[in-house]
Amino acid sequence: MTQENTAIAVAVLGAAGRMGSAVCAAVDEASDMRLVAALDVADDLEQLVTSGTEVIVDFTTPDVVMEHVDWAIVRGIHAVVGTTGFTTERLDRVRHALTARPEVGVLIAPNFSLGAVLLMRFARDAAPHFESVEVIELHHPDKLDAPSGTARHTAEMIAEARQAAGIDQSPDATAEEIAGARGAMIEGVSVHSVRLRGLVAHEEVLLGNPGEVLTLRHDSLDRSSFMPGVLLGIREVRSRPGLTLGLEALLDA
Ligand code: NAP
Repeated sequence: MTQENTAIAVAVLGAAGRMGSAVCAAVDEASDMRLVAALDVADDLEQLVTSGTEVIVDFTTPDVVMEHVDWAIVRGIHAVVGTTGFTTERLDRVRHALTARPEVGVLIAPNFSLGAVLLMRFARDAAPHFESVEVIELHHPDKLDAPSGTARHTAEMIAEARQAAGIDQSPDATAEEIAGARGAMIEGVSVHSVRLRGLVAHEEVLLGNPGEVLTLRHDSLDRSSFMPGVLLGIREVRSRPGLTLGLEALLDA
């Protein structure tokens, strides 16, 4: 069989976007993949069927991504999803859709960069050892959702680790505040969102005890930081039926 025949047939949704265009270039360069479709807004999804797509990669917007994932599952096409905005309800909906096509793999990862995944892991490990913890995420101002999916996921991991260790919520004597001043509360963890021209994607976790502060920080300086994780996802998703959450599940394999 030729390389062309064995190469994974990949379609990118959101192909004209910042992430989508970088994924198209990365897939084009990967010798074990071929880019069979590059779709953006208003393009017909049926092209994915005629092009023989095996895996879609979705970097679109939170308002259309569910439609894409549902569409792919019904047609037996695997999905690697970087688009954010996945709530518990949305994840349940994906799980439900997969019951009708259990052979399909869907990977949803709020962050495809290795450094960001490790930051989440370090934050989870450190969280039970500190009295206070807060998360700050910083992004370019064209980002549509806040807080970022990564920050949401980080806060959930921190909260889970603290609950398991029986640690109380971070102390906070605030009695009066302008709405939003203390950030969004995600499972008892304050998450602050900064939107600033010049930034790409950054996250800090601040952990405090009497007399000491530990700061964990990750900076995605360029969208190329996400590409090894996306390509790994494309390679792995076909052999992982059902829903896989987070790149960390592949790193631990
Ligand atoms: P972006 O530049 O706005 O790209 C989104 C693209 O999707 C745009 O070209 C948009 O077209 C297109 N689109 C909108 N509706 C569509 C539809 N129905 N079908 C196909 N394409 C459609 O955004 P981005 O910065 O690339 O980010 C995309 C998503 O990825 C966001 O949710 C972001 O938070 C997330 N993200 C995830 C990671 C990760 O590692 N998981 C990393 C970075 C970003 P129009 O502009 O014409 O609407």
